[in-house]
Amino acid sequence: MSVLVLVETDDKGASEVSRETLTFARRLGEDVQALVVGDGPAGLVDQLGTYGVRSVLHADGDAFTSYAAAAWAAAVVAASADATVVMAAGTPRGNEVLAHVACRLGVTMAANVVEVDRSSGSLVVSRQVLGGAAMEEMRLEDAVAVLSVAGHACDPQPAEATTSPAVMPIEVEVADSDLRARVVRTEPGEPDESGSLKSAKVVVGAGRGAGSADGFKDLLELADLLDGALGVSRVVTSLGWRPHHEQVGQTGSRVSPDLYLACGISGAIQHWAGMSSSKTIVAINNDPDAPMVTKAHYAVIGDLHEVVPAVVEELRRRRPA
Ligand SMILES: Cc1cc2nc3c(=O)[nH]c(=O)nc-3n(C[C@H](O)[C@H](O)[C@H](O)COP(=O)(O)OP(=O)(O)OC[C@H]3O[C@@H](n4cnc5c(N)ncnc54)[C@H](O)[C@@H]3O)c2cc1C
Repeated sequence: MSVLVLVETDDKGASEVSRETLTFARRLGEDVQALVVGDGPAGLVDQLGTYGVRSVLHADGDAFTSYAAAAWAAAVVAASADATVVMAAGTPRGNEVLAHVACRLGVTMAANVVEVDRSSGSLVVSRQVLGGAAMEEMRLEDAVAVLSVAGHACDPQPAEATTSPAVMPIEVEVADSDLRARVVRTEPGEPDESGSLKSAKVVVGAGRGAGSADGFKDLLELADLLDGALGVSRVVTSLGWRPHHEQVGQTGSRVSPDLYLACGISGAIQHWAGMSSSKTIVAINNDPDAPMVTKAHYAVIGDLHEVVPAVVEELRRRRPA
């Protein structure tokens, strides 16, 4: 009996969302196995040991030199013989692979899970639906539960006891049809001036209230002083004030920082869907009845062009010289 976690990697090791998923997997109290597909970066196995992983299953070979969802799903299925739960981070890749896995196993998949509960005997999960605007409870009653874990559902925490995981190569049968849809070329994206919005612990959100493309200087400085990132509403990107990769919401990035400072954002449902799981939400808005103000944990009613510079000045003053 074990939980199998598909681990995504970057050049430093397991990606942050995969480390969150490993932390989340430990909540089930079963042995955690990790599946790594293709080459992993140096030090990955030791790092997985710090997250309490008992064994690392490794699928390698020509079929895995580039990403192909169906081939990765074949690897997950091959690795899942002992698993009662199969998990991946709720990334586009994690969700795509697990959808294939669920089809192959003939079971239900729950995407974007934030909580698991086994107290009733079966596995009940809470998951984000409708772009994060609502939560759904779902009972997974198949022999194998397949679920992806929403970003920031928990903090990545090493286990109390480090393990020395055994690495076990696995045999995977990959059909030609599994490689029909695969990555054949990658291109660098646009430079991301906002820092890593999705993983930022503080996001300074900015909406139409910024006033113009020139209205972001103080907001960017605030994000910088808080070691955070700028996120914006769709109006801001539609007006060409800021690039699309900074957009938060249903058609932008979903973020769950510790602190979301919503400056001049009305709080339309499509924006709320992208940031409602933030741990603390503070609205700065001149309209006391704006939905963002009524739903936020804290609100400052005022002109952001006065409030934000005042906060910036105070933060600068408190900074160690
Ligand atoms: C299919 C679909 C998908 C969408 N996807 C997204 C999405 O992903 N993300 C997204 O953000 N939106 C999305 N939208 C758009 C969404 O419905 C809203 O139109 C948008 O979020 C509003 O942006 P805003 O809050 O910046 O602007 P507004 O709604 O115009 O609100 C501006 C706010 O700023 C306040 N304000 C103005 N001046 C100041 C000032 N000087 N100081 C303080 N406060 C001030 C106002 O009181 C107001 O509350 C989508 C819409 C559709 C139909």
